[in-house]
Amino acid sequence: MNYLSTRDDNVRMTSSQAIAKGISADGGLFVPEEIPQLTSGDISSLAGKSYIERAKAVLGRFLTDFTPEELDSCVRGAYGKNFSSEKVAPVVGISDTMNILELFKGPTCAFKDMALQILPRLLTVAGGKTAKGTEIIILVATSGDTGKAALEGFRDVENTRILVFYPSDGVSPMQKLQMCTQEGANVAVSAIRGNFDDAQSGVKKIFTDPSIIESLANHNMAFSSANSINWGRLAPQIVYYISAYCDLIGQGKIKCGDKINITVPTGNFGNILAAYYAKLMGLPVNKLICASNSNSVLTDFLTTGTYDRNREFHTTISPSMDILISSNLERLLHSVAGTKKVNEWMASLARTGKYTVDEKTFAAIRETFEAGCCSDEETKAAIAETYREKGYLCDTHTAVAVAVYEAYKEKTGDMTPTVIASTASPFKFSRAVLEALEGKPSDLDEFDLVGRLSEITGAECPAPLANLRNKPVRFTGCCEKDDMTSVVFDMLGI
Ligand SMILES: *Cc1c(COP(=O)(O)O)cnc(C)c1O
Repeated sequence: MNYLSTRDDNVRMTSSQAIAKGISADGGLFVPEEIPQLTSGDISSLAGKSYIERAKAVLGRFLTDFTPEELDSCVRGAYGKNFSSEKVAPVVGISDTMNILELFKGPTCAFKDMALQILPRLLTVAGGKTAKGTEIIILVATSGDTGKAALEGFRDVENTRILVFYPSDGVSPMQKLQMCTQEGANVAVSAIRGNFDDAQSGVKKIFTDPSIIESLANHNMAFSSANSINWGRLAPQIVYYISAYCDLIGQGKIKCGDKINITVPTGNFGNILAAYYAKLMGLPVNKLICASNSNSVLTDFLTTGTYDRNREFHTTISPSMDILISSNLERLLHSVAGTKKVNEWMASLARTGKYTVDEKTFAAIRETFEAGCCSDEETKAAIAETYREKGYLCDTHTAVAVAVYEAYKEKTGDMTPTVIASTASPFKFSRAVLEALEGKPSDLDEFDLVGRLSEITGAECPAPLANLRNKPVRFTGCCEKDDMTSVVFDMLGI
């Protein structure tokens, strides 16, 4: 199967080229030329299998130039003992319609591990196929969780180096500590003065700057991306939606062929886009419900057809969703409206910060997508209520999805079984979660907060977070957003 660019139909890449390059030279994102189909027979046979088998079956359909042996080794390496659940991504029913898909059982306790435990393995194999001997340089802009998950995934992976930029005031203390204590000889971390969008724009600019690319090439280095614009991150995310469907069959909640809804707390539109691809593959999906915090640019787009990033940026208690430029939306637009329209809209976005899609495109999107947003107060209320009434403790991002889903259900009366993507451990955002439960802010320090949260809920703090307390801080640098290039060169020593 080939991959083409969302901005140029004439680009043709194999899956390993698409993964090694990360982003197309024309600024577009790689998308599969056609979507492989799953029959209901395929799905029911996967229902009896392990996560690893499911992952191999789904990824094998997209990554067609990887041999079965290569895929087997990547998948087994990624989804083994480093996950604290044998099921890897377990599904927990908490009400008549609500099923929580727990995507935070990996080493950094956020859903980014689902993709970033396997991406370095895919990239190493892909690099061997496309550019033997070239050192792969991973640049990451993070709103908190991607950075840590990528550092952990790439740590000491041969022939790679990784540099992470995070917004200095845009991540939680736990997220910051996770990154700044990162171990490994090939890693570096820098804060930037700015928000996530500044970090992401800076990284995109460096990636596509011909003179920087040439300097790297002279040192036998090439950039690649671990951000969710990389196809190697999206493909592994399709797997867990199909896996969740299989688990619901196994739990007797649905029969094969029944439709489900999927609700996703959304930032860069990567996670929900993976659910959309699962639907395109043939997974029986009724609605995809896109949940935002008060940075509601996607809610507005999905309810009006106009994307407008010219608005105030809000710092919220769900920081991994504090994003105004949702890069992966470009893939949805391409899938619905094609290359020519994508170019028009992206040019308009670059020029004016906004675009409006045509009516036909909007109607096609609305057939599948619902959207809603909620404030920090509503998020906290959802955490408290879910804990009190269902005995389930969720993090701030997941709570946004719960709140938006409850409002959707109330409004529509839709009783379709629903999967809610739970994207982080509540212990990663202890301060806000504890405040939600106790009804008042706490003045405890980060680790005492964790202890208190554990004490009042009986839930155990995941070991990777508890262990941070004893780790030395290695990275303290902070740069201006215009100085990111020199930080990159410093790290690479060129
Ligand atoms: C990254 C992240 C999100 C948003 O996911 P996207 O793929 O960017 O939409 C939501 N919750 C958490 C905890 C995250 O780390």
